Amino acid sequence: MPEKLMITAPAKVNLSLRITGRRDDGYHELESLVAFASCGDTLQLAKASATRLTVEGSGVVPADETNLIIRALRSLEAHTGKPLVTDIRLHKNLPVAGGLGGGSADAAAVLNGLTRLFELDVSEVQCAELARALGADVPACLAPGPGWMTGTGTDISRLDSLPAADIILVNPRIALPTGTVFAALNCHTKPPAKPSPQPDVGGFEDLCDFVTGQGNDLAAPASEAVPEIAACLVGLLDSGAACVGMSGSGASCFGLARVGDGQQIAEAYRLKRENDWCVASRLIGAGDAEITQLYQ
Ligand code: ATP
Repeated sequence: MPEKLMITAPAKVNLSLRITGRRDDGYHELESLVAFASCGDTLQLAKASATRLTVEGSGVVPADETNLIIRALRSLEAHTGKPLVTDIRLHKNLPVAGGLGGGSADAAAVLNGLTRLFELDVSEVQCAELARALGADVPACLAPGPGWMTGTGTDISRLDSLPAADIILVNPRIALPTGTVFAALNCHTKPPAKPSPQPDVGGFEDLCDFVTGQGNDLAAPASEAVPEIAACLVGLLDSGAACVGMSGSGASCFGLARVGDGQQIAEAYRLKRENDWCVASRLIGAGDAEITQLYQ
């Protein structure tokens, strides 16, 4: 039985995001092509004599019981009835409140990691239920591969294929809470009777056409709060990205590029917008899901 393990919690990217309606209970219905990038937060989980969370890295998040990491640990303790005493070190690489689902990815990584570290008997279905109670995006982060998200964001069907691509992630270093963006969204339509079928994006050009054609309905309200988003998108295009978009509720943006071009585009972007957070990474494909939460 391992005493310690390291996990990567990869960034979740909404390559497209359409708001299709608003339900009577106030929740928005959406359709989103979701993928994961190979970069993310890293977590070290070690069995210990007291549970403790230490946060380091560029992002500032509370290291107390409100952190989704501790909430994930507590929910697993409640479910199994066992104390899961763990020393957790989070290296926060992803921008906080940046539309890259960092908190959700961390929570999912903890559910997966503790199940492995303590050899817990928790089924996939039970784990997904715990994940859902922690947040709408957490179930998708349990097996970080490409998917088509519908409903209020909790229904995800896995995509069989996603073309290989580099992805450049940028953020103007301005936190943008999801609630602020939805509050500015002017949407009163009823959800459609039937959701759209999942997209067919077999080749890199198909993917770019889809990303550009669909766009992100939250980009307009997000840009009202953070006007720098437009400059991030232009900066990515001017640096050579084949297509660009905003992820989630922003303010992080992404550019897609053919495999091998990402590093150079990121370097060009950094020269244009030197204060932004900017990382070149790889889009995680359908067959890569099992290797994405890397354990060591
Ligand atoms: P989403 O699109 O799911 O809202 P996001 O990328 O916009 O995600 P996160 O970085 O996940 O936003 O942070 C959302 C909120 O969750 C922040 O207010 C943050 O303080 C809180 N939070 C709690 N735990 C974490 C964590 N481990 N990492 C990041 N944020 C966390």
